Amino acid sequence: MRAEVIGVGTELLLGQIANTNAKHISTALATIGVDVLWHTAVGDNLGRIEEAVRTATGRSEAVIITGGLGPTSDDITAEGVAAATGRSLIRDDLLAARIRGFFESRGRAMAESNLKQADLPEGATPIEAEGTAPGFYVEHDDAVIFCLPGVPWEMDAMLAKTVLPVLRERSGDAVTVSRHVLTVGVGESAVAHAIADIVDAQTNPTIAFLAGGGVARVRLTAKAPDEARAEALIQPVEAAIRDRLGDAALEPGEDSVVGVFSSLARGHNLKVAAAESLTGGLLGANLTEAEGASDFFHGSLVCYSTEAKRAVAGVDPAILDEHGAVSAECAAALAEAAARRFGADVGVATTGVAGPAEQEGHAPGTIFVGAHLRGQTEARRVQGYGNRSNMRVIALNSALDLARRMIVDSSKP
Ligand code: ATP
Ligand code: MG
Repeated sequence: MRAEVIGVGTELLLGQIANTNAKHISTALATIGVDVLWHTAVGDNLGRIEEAVRTATGRSEAVIITGGLGPTSDDITAEGVAAATGRSLIRDDLLAARIRGFFESRGRAMAESNLKQADLPEGATPIEAEGTAPGFYVEHDDAVIFCLPGVPWEMDAMLAKTVLPVLRERSGDAVTVSRHVLTVGVGESAVAHAIADIVDAQTNPTIAFLAGGGVARVRLTAKAPDEARAEALIQPVEAAIRDRLGDAALEPGEDSVVGVFSSLARGHNLKVAAAESLTGGLLGANLTEAEGASDFFHGSLVCYSTEAKRAVAGVDPAILDEHGAVSAECAAALAEAAARRFGADVGVATTGVAGPAEQEGHAPGTIFVGAHLRGQTEARRVQGYGNRSNMRVIALNSALDLARRMIVDSSKP
């Protein structure tokens, strides 16, 4: 089944917001074996929305539209779909009653314009509102058109509850499953070289390389009638790749370095803390993004200035005087400080120069990461590249990878 995702909103075209809805919808559709072949963004303009919908239904069996379902006069997606499919808009009484009820239950006066959200193309099936805007879907020729609100969490909920089940039923039972093999600090071309013959022989699963933030990943994607069969296709190829990459491959089961590290720390029952200079809180933010981080994560000291490294983290002034804040010694001291100050088993630390100016005579991209595990401390230098935000992500991934290696090594007999 072919699909097209259409984002409606002039703010998308002006670059004021990123089209994250398209990304999430594509990720979700891949899991049920639907091939997304086009992403389109169109402004809040009736003629152009109509044209985009007409084009999409002419080349896809599933069209997922987000945005422009609200009550204001620039929310005209339903009109656009009605025009493109030659239908009129008809007020859905049940939706209208719900909208009235929504305002009544909050004791708020309702502007008549809100009822516009109950006007659906003839024959459409409403999708219950998650926030205030209801969605709907409608069949046209060989295609089904879904209209969802632009607000990401509302869109997400409708995607899971309605869009995926409806499409799964229509597309027959096909699933796409992806698995990732991650490496840190190895380099995409080295990884590609090591497994070139496996890649050349690919059919199902297909193999792709993705690199960024100091991480090179191999993505294996299999298509099969069900998840178990897709996994069975991936398993031997993934095993062959892991065998080739040896120690360089991170532990399986997660698709990010943060995920691998978190599950390792949890699995070994280790308490983790961080001390961050270069990453300025990014380590803590990433470690706490997933649910249940409190199982293993205590906290992070952000000590950006040299003075904070001394006064807050308690780094020995002699280290700062002798080696500077941008040094392996400082990274090691910060990792120890993190573990000490939080009473944690593992301390992770970053320091370095994000640029664009040099610091203490070090060029931008000079990064040191440190890790401490129960009495043992290691630090290493990492070469950063790209802009400031990329350098921080490299530092984050490299620091967690260093700690990861220490945990894995310590549990070897
Ligand atoms: P509402 O009733 O909340 O206005 P709506 O369907 O009219 O819903 P829009 O007004 O188009 O939605 O967008 C609401 C907000 O959702 C936008 O301000 C933006 O923050 C976010 N949004 C819209 N489209 C996208 C998109 N494609 N990707 C990510 N966020 C989006
Ligand atoms: Mg709106």
